Amino acid sequence: MTQIATRIAANVRSVHDRIAAACDRADRVASDVTLIAVTKYAEPEWVRELVSLGVIELGESRPQQLIERVGDFPTSVHWHLIGHLQRNKARRVLPLTTLIHSVDSLRLLSAIDRLAEELDLRPRVLLEVNVAGETAKHGFDPQQLPTVWDEICAHERVQIEGLMTMAPRESDPENARPVFQRLRELRDELASRSTAPATLPVLSMGMSGDFEIAIEAGATHVRIGSRLYEGLS
Ligand SMILES: *Cc1c(COP(=O)(O)O)cnc(C)c1O
Repeated sequence: MTQIATRIAANVRSVHDRIAAACDRADRVASDVTLIAVTKYAEPEWVRELVSLGVIELGESRPQQLIERVGDFPTSVHWHLIGHLQRNKARRVLPLTTLIHSVDSLRLLSAIDRLAEELDLRPRVLLEVNVAGETAKHGFDPQQLPTVWDEICAHERVQIEGLMTMAPRESDPENARPVFQRLRELRDELASRSTAPATLPVLSMGMSGDFEIAIEAGATHVRIGSRLYEGLS
């Protein structure tokens, strides 16, 4: 193996070990949590190593980079869009993604739903929630989301599978815990509504700095980038 391959394999193993340990602490099974390898800073060679290790759930934050990369990797890869989607990029992105984590407005949801009808797709989506109310971040206001819930559920082509959030960057990841707990409570509240699409099983939360806390708070999908590339470049 090359040095890069060795390094990435060790990083992936370490992340999987930490996921498993966090699941243990929370009395959960490791298969409940999906690792999404965020590739936005990764060289194509690094991404190829991830894929060869069986890491095939990949996340891109920029729609344009996702569009450009899809054709360079095997069709076994599942691409997740985790960053803001401009409505004019939706048509190209929709057929390429397994899950869009970042539906951050009713307008975008409606645009995706219309396109899905036209393209005969049933896209899986998550609603991004700006739990911490940071002005620089996208997402639904957690207070407003319940008030527009019926309007959201009236969209019939999209499959709304859950919620996503990003916690503010903190030196102490423990500070992210209330943010993750709030997302989970919001999910529980929405899932109990009669209009809810099933149970909203997905909670996409936790990044390199705080994924263990997110798992303890109920994350089903963690989005991890930089930790997979430690020691490279
Ligand atoms: C970049 C990014 C991540 C991964 O961040 P790391 O701190 O590198 O793990 C996760 N989610 C979103 C939405 C991102 O943009």
